Amino acid sequence: SAKEKGRNQYHFFDPGLDEHRRNRRAQLMEISRALENQEFELFFQPQIRLADGRLLGFEALIRWRHPQKGLVSPGEFLPIVENSHLEVPLGQWVLKEAIHQMNVWKEAGEDMAVSINISAPHLMDHSFADYLESYLYSHPEVNPGQITLEVLESTALEDTKQASNVLARCQTLGLRVALDDFGTGFSSLTYLRTLPVDIIKIDQSFVRNMLEDASDHAIVESVIFLAQRFSHPVLAEGVETMEHARALRQMGCNFAQGYGFARPMPATAVLGWARQHRRDPSGNASDPALSA
Ligand code: C2E
Ligand code: MG
Ligand code: MG
Ligand code: MG
Repeated sequence: SAKEKGRNQYHFFDPGLDEHRRNRRAQLMEISRALENQEFELFFQPQIRLADGRLLGFEALIRWRHPQKGLVSPGEFLPIVENSHLEVPLGQWVLKEAIHQMNVWKEAGEDMAVSINISAPHLMDHSFADYLESYLYSHPEVNPGQITLEVLESTALEDTKQASNVLARCQTLGLRVALDDFGTGFSSLTYLRTLPVDIIKIDQSFVRNMLEDASDHAIVESVIFLAQRFSHPVLAEGVETMEHARALRQMGCNFAQGYGFARPMPATAVLGWARQHRRDPSGNASDPALSA
């Protein structure tokens, strides 16, 4: 029939797009199922104060413990989730899970600060702040001052004014705001001027080669200078060796995070790491990157 013919023609002209859509839908269904089956897990990576080596807190980083594929990193599934109906539910799961872990550690006698990555849609209306507010209200044991929201600098925040309002409201609730991956976006300076930020995270792409590459070195130095002018503390990401840590400290960088201190670890390893680190703040020698 003509109808069948039309359908065949459609497939003939655009098979790729169709398959792409089917694929994505299947992937999203799998992710939705994974969320229900609690296959997602948060890993935690320490953030260190460079002046004295003390522990500032941990950044929560999502992983997917896939029944067949094993541990899947966020770079592989967050792009699929982006702009889908799952983005907000997954973000809410991260928030709840991070706070749950904070409470587990608190019950074990350790008050641990946690940084949580949040994606752009959470800042486009007030529902995330509403959710946060009611969650904190019903969990008075949680100290909001121990929570930092990491906002991706490179995410095109379509509506910076609205994002500022939402972030300012989160700050009113007692949370801190970090500008993540600073320097990688197209509007770094605009964000710096517009968004209410408490801390700036220099992207690891600048830090990695800063000891060999004069341009990267200049960028890192300039970002630290800029942040100081705005009275914002700075954290360098991707600090893989103590040489990097030393150089950053000399440049006036406040905090660091990276394999040089520790790789992201399961929640069950956090207390042990924190206690060991307190006993011996310079003893990160378990990581081979340091002795190199
Ligand atoms: P990010 O927030 O900038 O996190 C830093 C990334 O760098 C993490 O990758 C971390 O494992 C990695 N990293 C840390 N230290 C080093 C180092 O010394 N060298 C190198 N080469 N890499 C290092 P990961 O865990 O794969 O996360 C990638 C990105 O995915 C994150 O970048 C963040 O943007 C996003 N992400 C992770 N978890 C979440 C989450 O729960 N929610 C949202 N919305 N995004 C998340
Ligand atoms: Mg981050
Ligand atoms: Mg980052
Ligand atoms: Mg990043």
